[in-house]
This record gives sequence, C-alpha cells and structure tokens, in this order.
Amino acid sequence: MTVDPDRNGKQVGFIMIPHSPHDDAWGVTRIPIAVIKNGEGPTVILEGGNHGDEYEGPITICDLIRELDPGQVQGRLILMPANNVHAVIAGQRTSPVDGLNFNRTFPGDPRGTITQQISAFITDHLYPIADAFIDLHSGGSSLDIIPSAIVEPTTDPGLHRRNLAAVQAFDAPMTVVISNLGEPRTATAAACLAGLVTVGTEMGGGGTVSLEALEVCRRGVRNVLAHHGVLPLDEIEPRRQDGQVLELPGTSAYVFATADGIFEPLHSNGTRVSEGQPAGRIHFTWDPTRPPETLHYAADGILYGRRQPGRVRPGNCCLVVAAPYQGSLS
Ligand code: CA
Repeated sequence: MTVDPDRNGKQVGFIMIPHSPHDDAWGVTRIPIAVIKNGEGPTVILEGGNHGDEYEGPITICDLIRELDPGQVQGRLILMPANNVHAVIAGQRTSPVDGLNFNRTFPGDPRGTITQQISAFITDHLYPIADAFIDLHSGGSSLDIIPSAIVEPTTDPGLHRRNLAAVQAFDAPMTVVISNLGEPRTATAAACLAGLVTVGTEMGGGGTVSLEALEVCRRGVRNVLAHHGVLPLDEIEPRRQDGQVLELPGTSAYVFATADGIFEPLHSNGTRVSEGQPAGRIHFTWDPTRPPETLHYAADGILYGRRQPGRVRPGNCCLVVAAPYQGSLS
C-alpha cells in the first residue's frame, strides 16, 4: 500500500497486489485508495466500484478525495472509489480477469484469484482499523432501482440500531433492509461481522449516471459522515424523508422470468402493487402463434426495481417489490 493510514493529512495512492498475467510477468493490480486523517476520531471506509457498472458512488468518492481538506475532517476517511478495479475499467459488474462477482467473495482469500485477494485485503487489513463502512452501489446494467439507502441485517441488536440510525441519516428517498436472501459473502455482511456501523445504497442503475441519484448520493454521504462525527454536524441538511423503513420480503419480493422472451413490465417504479396482481408479460416476438406469458407479483408493496434489458431468460430478475419492514426499529 502506497499510503500510510496512520499519517495525518491527505494521501492518494494505491493498494498494489502482485498480478502476473500472460502479458505482464511482474506487474501489479492497483486499487486506488485515499486516506484523509486529522487527529482522533472515528475511521470511516467509503467503497465504490464494488461492481464496475455502478457509477454514482465512485463519482461521489472521487469528489470527496479532491474537495476535502484534512482540516475539515475529524478522525479518518479511507476512500476507495474503484475496489473491483478490473471490473471498473471494463464497466462490467463482474471482473473480466477471473469472472467473479466481488460482492460474493467476502471474506476473500489471500491465496485465491485476484478478486478474492482484493476482498481479503479489505477484510484483513482495512475492516480491523475502521469503525464504519459506507458501500455505494447502484442497480448496475441489469436493474433500475429507486435511489435508496440500505440496511444490512445483523444478529447484533446494538449494531442493528446503530446501522439503522446511520442509514436513516443518509436520508435517501427510500430506506430498505436487504438481506440478499441471507447472502453472507457481501462487503456489507462482512463489515457487520467485523462490527462496523454499515450503510449500503442502491443509487439508480441501468448502467448509466442518474442526475437525481448522484445528487441523493452526494448529499447522503455527507449526511452520514456528519452523523459519524467525521464531518462537522452542521453539514447535516434538514431531513427530507419521513424515515419509513421497507424491506425485501424474502423470495416473494422478486418476480423472475419463467420463459425465454421479451419482458414487458406493466408498472413503473414507485407503483403500489399487490400479491397476485399481473406484473408483466413475456412476449415471443419470433413466434406470433404463441400468446404472451403473464407474470404476477408475489407480495404487497411498492415496485422498487425493474430489469433494464428487455430480453429475458428463465430465472432473470424482472421486478423487485419492497414491503413495510417487519423487524425491530429500536
Ligand atoms: Ca451492486
């Protein structure tokens, strides 16, 4: 690592992991990292580029690296805009080097492939020196999601309360508890296991940069940093949202494609929908004799996300419904 996390001031450099592909025998993979430190206070890690086709978070983190002076910070920021760097350069969800989804590799493996080595470095060397984690995702190329701040479930009630408070400080248009169906291999699940106060996001998606989501992201990140005391409290803007918490109600949240065809959604994001209601149709435009197949919602709630590409195959996630959170809010 070319930055010293214990040094006061602003440093911008790289984590360098030896990487020896066909065309570069003694090369390195360089993961950008900035440290802005000023005296005593909490350490917050900001992650972008966990998936390489999600852009609002990385832009926000690079803005902070350029804009913040150490004198504005109390404590330490570890700013990482492009953690899955090969995927970021390729503009892809998964790494073109080893094909892995970085967010399914935690806690990583220092003897594994390059993606597993990156997650191992973060788990082993950065989580232990941090107090809080902000993981900035968007929907990626395949999903368009209502800009939202995400609560990672944890079995530790004290951490759950602190996570909820930090996520609500983000003040996104929606606050959603997402377990990824209990998936333990994500960056946020690993951060919670390490005891870090954890905030996730889903900022738009569709493989584009959303003007609206970028504004939400810039403002929300500063709100959370002020909530943690790393930026001055007067950075927190007046709340815009009512603080309602939603969740993805297990597998019933998802409408999956049942056939190979073209998916037609019947509603826009934000629409109130109910279980059993027609959600969309799969068309077979190459065979007009075959009638479209109708898909139905499996839960009551709000349409939270929808697939971007029209072309679907069985199992593709077409729609996502968020419902009122049933868990503890205190
Ligand atoms: Ca993502």
